[in-house]
Amino acid sequence: MTYTANSKNPTKSEKRGISSSAERSVHIGEATGAAPVSPTIIAKFWSRVEVRTSRVCWLWRGMKNQSGYGRFRPTWNDPEVKAHRFAWQIVNGPVPDGKLIIHSCDTPACCNPKHLRVGSYQDNSDDCVTRGRQSRLLGTANPRTKLTDDQVAAIRRDPRPGVQVARDYGVCDSLISMIRKGQRRRFTP
Ligand SMILES: [Zn+2]
Repeated sequence: MTYTANSKNPTKSEKRGISSSAERSVHIGEATGAAPVSPTIIAKFWSRVEVRTSRVCWLWRGMKNQSGYGRFRPTWNDPEVKAHRFAWQIVNGPVPDGKLIIHSCDTPACCNPKHLRVGSYQDNSDDCVTRGRQSRLLGTANPRTKLTDDQVAAIRRDPRPGVQVARDYGVCDSLISMIRKGQRRRFTP
C-alpha cells in the first residue's frame, strides 16, 4: 500500500519536525493495492504516541500486542501494522524486503524514529543477547549466556505463547520464535 503525505498541509508531526520532505511515499506491511495516506492518518498515528525529546522513548498509548508492541490500523480497511514499524516508515520510507525494524532502546512500545533502525532477525537476537537479558534471569555474569540443548528442546515443546516462554528463559521473544522455527542454534553449545 502506498501512502503519500503532502507537506502543503503539515500535520502535527510534520510541524514537530518528524517528517519534513515535500512528498513521501510509504509502503505499509504486506498490504497490496495503493491508497494515499492522508496527513490525517499520520496525525492520528502521532496523536497516539507520547512524542517527547529525541533522546527519550516515545511510548505508544494505543493498543499493544502480547509482546508490548503498539498496534495501529490506519483505516478500517487496512491491515493492522506494528506502530514502531509505521513510525519508521513515515520518516524513512518503505522497509526493505525481509527486514525488521529494531529498537535500539529495547522498548517494544517505543515509536521514536531515532531509536529505530533496520535490521535482520539475526541482529535482533544478537541485540537481545548482548544486552544481557539472558544473563539477568539465568543468573550468570556472562552476557552471552547459552541456552543448553535441553532448554532449546524444551522451548520447542513448550505450548505457551512465545512471550511467556521468553520471560521464563530471560530471552527475547524473537529468539524464541527463531528457535521454534529452527533458525537459531548459534547460542546453543
Ligand atoms: Zn525508545
